[in-house]
Amino acid sequence: MRKAINNITFLTSILATQAYSQTVFPCTDEDQEIANEALSTAQEMLEFAIEGFDGGGIDFGLKAGIWLGARNSTDAEEIRDTYERALVFSEGMKFLCAVDSSFNAIAAVNQDVPVPYIMLGEAFFGLEDNGFDSQPGSVIHELTHGLLVEGTNFLDSERYGTDEALKLAEEDPRTAMSNADNYQYFIEAYYFSLDPP
Ligand SMILES: [Zn+2]
Repeated sequence: MRKAINNITFLTSILATQAYSQTVFPCTDEDQEIANEALSTAQEMLEFAIEGFDGGGIDFGLKAGIWLGARNSTDAEEIRDTYERALVFSEGMKFLCAVDSSFNAIAAVNQDVPVPYIMLGEAFFGLEDNGFDSQPGSVIHELTHGLLVEGTNFLDSERYGTDEALKLAEEDPRTAMSNADNYQYFIEAYYFSLDPP
């Protein structure tokens, strides 16, 4: 889950799942179009990153170290596989839109249903389509939640924001490699050619 930029309220995906099961929020046509565009860009970004890992470029390795704490080819392989599973998970992904102000997140994923979906909060539609904390990057963030830290309470351990992600990669690479924001920022930095802020 991504926290809303101007809101410090967090929901776990479990709580959010319960909320979703009670009320369905279909997206408007306009919002659906924005969400589909973000998903399509997210898939391009994932493919680009996987190709980058397979090609083994030096600059790519450097960014993977800065953002994900990757120190060697084993780490790089693990990260690559996470992105590949995120890409597979993204196929056929559906979106719902929260029109309810009680949903205080940018987005949250529900993976425990026959057809997984990502719930988008109003804050999602205020994000840019590129740069750090972008719409497609936020979709990638949610996709990695379908794959990371199974069986643990990622709400307690999830760390948010570029500063926290950079610190985590430097001080605790293992945690960085299971933190959704680190996966999001790495791929945004790589795809959009961004230096750390
Ligand atoms: Zn999250």
